[in-house]
Amino acid sequence: MITASPNPRLSPPAVDWRELWRDAVTDGRELLALLGLQHLAGQLPAADAGFPLRVPRGFVARMRPGDAGDPLLLQVLPQLAEFARVPGFVTDAVGDMDSRAARGVLHKYEGRALLLASGSCAINCRYCFRRHFPYGEEMAAAGQWRQALEHLRQDDSINEVILSGGDPLALSTGKLEELTRGLAGLSHVTRLRIHSRLPVVLPQRIDAALLAWLGGLPWQKVLVLHANHANELDASVAEACTRLREAGVTVLNQSVLLRGINDNVDALQQLSERLFAVGAMPYYLHQLDRVQGAAHFEVDDAEARELMARLRARLPGYLVPKLVRELAGDPSKRPL
Ligand code: SF4
Repeated sequence: MITASPNPRLSPPAVDWRELWRDAVTDGRELLALLGLQHLAGQLPAADAGFPLRVPRGFVARMRPGDAGDPLLLQVLPQLAEFARVPGFVTDAVGDMDSRAARGVLHKYEGRALLLASGSCAINCRYCFRRHFPYGEEMAAAGQWRQALEHLRQDDSINEVILSGGDPLALSTGKLEELTRGLAGLSHVTRLRIHSRLPVVLPQRIDAALLAWLGGLPWQKVLVLHANHANELDASVAEACTRLREAGVTVLNQSVLLRGINDNVDALQQLSERLFAVGAMPYYLHQLDRVQGAAHFEVDDAEARELMARLRARLPGYLVPKLVRELAGDPSKRPL
């Protein structure tokens, strides 16, 4: 008997993540129209506060049509409130500029150094603490990583390298390979950590080439996702997390506590439970970094602590993230 096997020429080709990236929604009116909210277009700011709207269509598909308060929509939709100048909210909220150790290298904490691997993101999150960061001047990838690698080579107290940005998985897999070839000679480095929102907002990025690269790395590998609401975590994200774990990657998640998005105990409980279901451990719940343009997202510390107390009463300890704040100059994140 001849068994039919799928004819690759007839099977629909997998959509390349770069095409999906390019096809992102970048116009507020289009985004609102896709959700049946075109009547709200008049409330959009006339300018973009230097930080344009950008959201992949797969992420838009997880938003609830007709709901102007949708927790995914509120993370990406520009608001007039971003133009308010609020005391204490500044362009460099966590002291990144003062912790530069070499071009594209931030060295804040003992044993760890962070590479600003890319200035690009698939999604622009309105609360982003690096929304004003001058990526053009500060990229580690410039000059084939030379300065960044030299800093890591000279400091043998660094045993963990963190790839951040922007989103480091915005780089091509070839570029990532170039970087890790440079790291391979550093015997003091034992862990590679990647901070990325791409497995959540564009899970197609976790493709065969990326998994082959990850699977072949000699270090322990950690990928820290960034999801703030359970609705972000659909079946495509679950599949991406499964593939990452199969490639030997420990998958964690960090969230930001955001007014109007996840500032209630039900939302936080659902987020932790859904994260565990897709294979990611809740790690940090960050208090908002006080970046200019994001004050309307802030939840005060007393309310945040109260939420955590209620969350601890509902969940097993391993599903309760650590509530922390990052303050410039501190030797670690500060537990609240
Ligand atoms: S993906 Fe991360 S770095 Fe990029 S805009 Fe969102 S929060 Fe900022």
